[in-house]
Amino acid sequence: MKNILDYTKAELAQEVDPKFRAQQIFQWIYQKGVESFDEMTNLPKALRQELAERFVIAPPKILQIEGSQDGSKKYLLQLQDGHTIESVLLPMKPEERDSTGKIVKEARYTICVSSQVGCKVGCAFCLTAKGGFVRNLTPGEIVGQVLAIRKEHAIPANRRVNIVYMGMGEPLDNLDNVAKAIRIFSDEHGLSIAPRRQTISTSGLAPKIEKLGQMGLGVLLAISLHAVDDRLREQLMPINKAYNIERIIEAVKGFPIDQRKRVMFEYLLIKDLNDDLKSAKRLVQLLQGIKAKVNLIYFNPYPGSPFQRPDEERAKAFQRYLLDRGILCTIRESKGLDISAACGQLKERSLGDSL
Ligand code: SF4
Repeated sequence: MKNILDYTKAELAQEVDPKFRAQQIFQWIYQKGVESFDEMTNLPKALRQELAERFVIAPPKILQIEGSQDGSKKYLLQLQDGHTIESVLLPMKPEERDSTGKIVKEARYTICVSSQVGCKVGCAFCLTAKGGFVRNLTPGEIVGQVLAIRKEHAIPANRRVNIVYMGMGEPLDNLDNVAKAIRIFSDEHGLSIAPRRQTISTSGLAPKIEKLGQMGLGVLLAISLHAVDDRLREQLMPINKAYNIERIIEAVKGFPIDQRKRVMFEYLLIKDLNDDLKSAKRLVQLLQGIKAKVNLIYFNPYPGSPFQRPDEERAKAFQRYLLDRGILCTIRESKGLDISAACGQLKERSLGDSL
């Protein structure tokens, strides 16, 4: 049977008669969080029966949750065919209450979703890469991660959630399904997560960055840059042999970005490899002419990893260099650090445990 989560509202409207029922089905699934057609009480019984014969509502099943002291949670999720993926929930801002206890500002969350089982890109610092590539996720399997987490965490439908496609897999290597997920997420009768609150994080598939830009979806872009010279980047990310730094920067310069937004450059600081001021200087040169923001991330060593976490002073000096030259720059502190921040680690560990 087909997973109804794979359908955009427009596609679903082709499947039901009359078409406006698609809107009601979206509201039931995404806003009210029901998991059976029987509960969709404003649909005629015959339609509910027909839907149940043709479709399932199948978000992934949560197998394991690993919590961190900072409030982030990492989820190991099982798909219908038994494969597992992971997603991360990051609480961004707690709710604010006034003196009477009334909520004046809702809490905000970011959910980091996977787009593939495994990954073809093969980054040296990534455990997902070690398992190789298995398959692309369907749109419903991407959207379903958010449904499963919202339900588990009891996040009401009207709470603000941002999506980052930064879990397992290279989202631009599964662009068609990711694009459909973006549309389903942003549907006004569904979760209403506007495209400008969805960020595609890519290892730098330059032609796909260009294609994404041409699709005009309005999403934000994050580039996993990590190195400023091609030799080091090839070692860290073999994909750099196909699309080198210059080619990526060229693609980014042509990407349409909302006036108020910036392209995020992720830079994994690895001790003694790319954490020096010479690299910072080169980074400033590369980003000239781009409305950029740099997110420095401490490398988080995993058992057997060949790289180490940089010293804090080096990271701060790197950040200071960029800030002094007018480039917005943050250091991603330990969000999720005490769980397992590098993608794929929870999955690896659970596999290891079951062997
Ligand atoms: S870091 Fe991301 S792109 Fe690189 S191998 Fe891992 S999952 Fe793939």
